[in-house]
Amino acid sequence: MTDIEIAQNVKMNKITQIADQLGLSEDDIEQYGSYKAKIKLPLRVNKETKRKLILVTSINPTPAGEGKSTVTIGLGDALSLLKKRAIVALREPSLGPVMGMKGGATGGGYAQVVPMEDINLHFTGDMHALTAANNTLAALIDNHMQQGNALGIDERRIVWKRTLDINDRALRNVVIGLGGPTQGVPREDGFDITVASELMAILCLAKNLHDLKARINRIVIGYTRDRQPVTVADLKVGGAIAALLKDAIKPNLVQTLGHTPAIIHGGPFANIAHGCNSVLATQTALNLADYTITEAGFGADLGAEKFLDIKVPVLKKRPDTIVIVATVKALKLNGGQNLADLAEEDLSALEKGISNLLHHIKSMQQYGVPVVVAINRFTQDTEQEINYIKETCAKLGVQAIDTDVWAKGGNGALDLAKVVLKTVEQPSQFKILYDQDSDLTDKIKTIVTKIYGGAHVSYSKKASNQLKRFKKLGWDKLPVCMAKTQYSLSDDAKLLGAPHDFTIHVKSFVPKLGAGFIVAMTGNVLTMPGLPKHPAAMDIDINDDGKISGLF
Ligand code: ADP
Repeated sequence: MTDIEIAQNVKMNKITQIADQLGLSEDDIEQYGSYKAKIKLPLRVNKETKRKLILVTSINPTPAGEGKSTVTIGLGDALSLLKKRAIVALREPSLGPVMGMKGGATGGGYAQVVPMEDINLHFTGDMHALTAANNTLAALIDNHMQQGNALGIDERRIVWKRTLDINDRALRNVVIGLGGPTQGVPREDGFDITVASELMAILCLAKNLHDLKARINRIVIGYTRDRQPVTVADLKVGGAIAALLKDAIKPNLVQTLGHTPAIIHGGPFANIAHGCNSVLATQTALNLADYTITEAGFGADLGAEKFLDIKVPVLKKRPDTIVIVATVKALKLNGGQNLADLAEEDLSALEKGISNLLHHIKSMQQYGVPVVVAINRFTQDTEQEINYIKETCAKLGVQAIDTDVWAKGGNGALDLAKVVLKTVEQPSQFKILYDQDSDLTDKIKTIVTKIYGGAHVSYSKKASNQLKRFKKLGWDKLPVCMAKTQYSLSDDAKLLGAPHDFTIHVKSFVPKLGAGFIVAMTGNVLTMPGLPKHPAAMDIDINDDGKISGLF
């Protein structure tokens, strides 16, 4: 059966029942139909919970993903089966990958969140609200130019782009305002995918509406001719943009196939942004259940590093356990086996490729949080391969637990859940990776040497000039958000395994003052993806009764 068929065959509980499990009444939620709701904030219930936070991350992924969401959901269901009060906190899918290549972000097999069609398609409209808010700001900027440009914005230095939540490469670079004086000021512009909008990162880091508006006001939309930043506050439209996000800021409540409550909210890119669900969603989850299981995008070098260094300081809660998801096939790929042969047993490729997992274990251990490995089992994996991973991890004193949530749901992660229940109770000392007040370049050097295993950082002429300007503007001590390929620890997607002595090349910086970080661009990071030759959209259909098929 396909994921969507499995999801459609399970009888969901009414969302009021899921809310009730968390101690939320009908007055505490806003229902979107029978199976989805938004949670009203601030929470009116004041519950005593254990507030244990479990962060799920992974090794460097293959193009298909390694099953972080699937394991996160399966672990949530396993904890529920063990009669623990658990909640899953995930990111919202973007229509880009749903219609394009990777697929959705609702888990897989018997470890899914439902209603999967709704979550993957329009859900509660958060993405559309973000798109509208983003483009309202774009329209207001162009209107300001048209109406006399009192702020003296340089039309060549406007950095605020338009967005769309669809992969559309034809819109990456466009010219707007053509047609004469009444049609606006002609200039080059471009579209990003909505999840790459700074507004998405802001929504995910905002502590409340007040903070949301303050952050929106700090967004730098462009520069004047003498290179002074122009912000949303200068345009006096922060209130309007925040108003458009009044519902999008509220966390969405749904359920897993095992009826564990799941909060799905926010989904920023894990390269150009920090790749984690919203602070408000995680906080809400911690306040409603004893065990919150959440995930961060891509591998531990990107998503988990940003969770720990960017999200944790805002959330003011560090994880109590980090689960690193590894798959036999991705480790073999890291060890040099061809993509087409991954179904074949290959212990020598596994022996080489396991260096990638061992690297991520050591880099995560630096934070002083207990680390466990979840082996996400695929049907083709052999016992020898699984055992090899377990034994190698055991030599580092780390438990690697075989999980089979895709085939068995929560029952496939009972062992993992039992281990996690112990590790979250271990005394641990959270160690921050870098001093928040250190220079940008020091922060980058620390991430490159301690998390990536590299040796040097080089800066292009453009990046060096930007650093000088940041110093003058007082932006040189902000947190850094690394934009790097997810496939390698280095900035070269083909350098697999655990390379060392490499140099990370910073080509440029993108200041995101509203999100509160500076993005360091290494390599070419696409902020508007394209569609593949056979887009997923070609397999999706809806019948006369409204039943959707082909969504994976
Ligand atoms: P990630 O969160 O790491 O990007 P997902 O959990 O979204 O990965 O899984 C990616 C895809 O792989 C999904 O389509 C899911 O159904 C599939 N998948 C995950 N785990 C397994 C497994 N053990 N066996 C088969 N398919 C799996």
